Amino acid sequence: MSGKNCFKVLDKIFEPKRKQNIEDIKGYTIKYGNIVDEGNVIDEVLVSYFKEPKSYTTENMCEINSHGGNVIVKKILDLCLKNGAELAEPGEFTKRAFLNGRIDLLQAESVIDIINAKTEKELKTGVNQLKGFLSNEIGKIKQEIMDVMVNIEVTIDYPEYDVDDVTTSQISAMLDSIEVKLKKLENSFDNGKILKEGIKTAIIGKPNAGKSSLLNAILKEDRAIVTEIEGTTRDTIEEFVNVNGIPLKLIDTAGIREAKDEVEKIGINKSREIANDADLIIAIFDSSKELTNEDEEILEIAKNKKSIILLNKVDLESKVKENDSRLLGVTDNIISISALNNYGIDKLYEKITDLFDLNEINLDNEVLITNIRQKNLISKSIEDINATRNSISSSMPIDIIAISVKEILEDLGKITGEEVSEDIINEIFSKFCLGK
Ligand code: GDP
Repeated sequence: MSGKNCFKVLDKIFEPKRKQNIEDIKGYTIKYGNIVDEGNVIDEVLVSYFKEPKSYTTENMCEINSHGGNVIVKKILDLCLKNGAELAEPGEFTKRAFLNGRIDLLQAESVIDIINAKTEKELKTGVNQLKGFLSNEIGKIKQEIMDVMVNIEVTIDYPEYDVDDVTTSQISAMLDSIEVKLKKLENSFDNGKILKEGIKTAIIGKPNAGKSSLLNAILKEDRAIVTEIEGTTRDTIEEFVNVNGIPLKLIDTAGIREAKDEVEKIGINKSREIANDADLIIAIFDSSKELTNEDEEILEIAKNKKSIILLNKVDLESKVKENDSRLLGVTDNIISISALNNYGIDKLYEKITDLFDLNEINLDNEVLITNIRQKNLISKSIEDINATRNSISSSMPIDIIAISVKEILEDLGKITGEEVSEDIINEIFSKFCLGK
């Protein structure tokens, strides 16, 4: 419970072993006792006390640790509600921490990322953001703008000092400097998105090439963590697989698995459909047979995209070699595997790591944008910079330029949450789970 009356509610339902006035209980204290309802003991519990402002929300807070289990927890919750508490909205604790100024919006958003993290790298990015890495970066950029704003204001207030030229050249220098920083953040979204959403990967190939065998080989991998998610393409299921730290979002895994008999086997049309949506195409061929027209169609789909060609069934006598010009016409990324025997699968992972520079992501000293809201605002700030440049080059008066510069500041303020509307705040926190 959080809020100014939380200790009053607690007092009605908690009988500590050693009773003390709330004024005498220090923050960060744990007390032992019973939760009681009209004299009946509900459970034996530990209660942690947090006193404002030193709590997650900055308000008075208490946490009841019961033995758990659905019935007990629900009963204690009902008791709290019956005695004056209100049920928290999704993310309400974090929302209060934000509204009370303990964390900014970037940090609040990182809490969702931390909870939802599917790989260690993603978790690390979330933790960095919670620590304020990105907030600091945005803060520095804002400070740069504010330093110049001071001069602009002076120029506006004392027009007799004819400092326009100096000021506009100063503004231009500032715009160049912050644009470099914002562009770097904007570009980091490519990697950030991969960390968060996974590399959207389509496994394509004609029937019997070995798609479902490959899928099994990937999913069997000891360290693969699999999460089923609803696909964006209609009627498909996507599976998030974390293999050796490589986040793959496999498209239409259900389709590949369910296609058992010859008629149903996933063929060219379906391959084309799922490939459309992919960041990476893994095109698989039966190397024990000559390439057919269907194979050539698959090669055509893989062309001009980030793709890897797998020559499957190398345990059999091979009819197609890695140096085949029809393959090389599509990509140099050609690997011989045997999906059935798990041979070559590690080479596939190495190739993916190389293709997406996943080893290059250095989370210790790099700030990554993983959130589309944040990315859009950064892009908007870069547009504002260009608009300001246009005002300068068309010799607009300094007060018009000032409005343009303020716009950049405002958009940056929306990222950290100082300038953001209530609707947006509500939308962001609605993505949280209850009780966070
Ligand atoms: P899909 O239709 O593309 O999903 O292909 P499957 O994965 O169902 O494989 C088709 C057939 O090829 C099955 O009988 C597999 O056992 C066989 N197969 C798959 N991979 C290999 C391999 O590496 N070596 C051999 N010898 N057979 C394989």
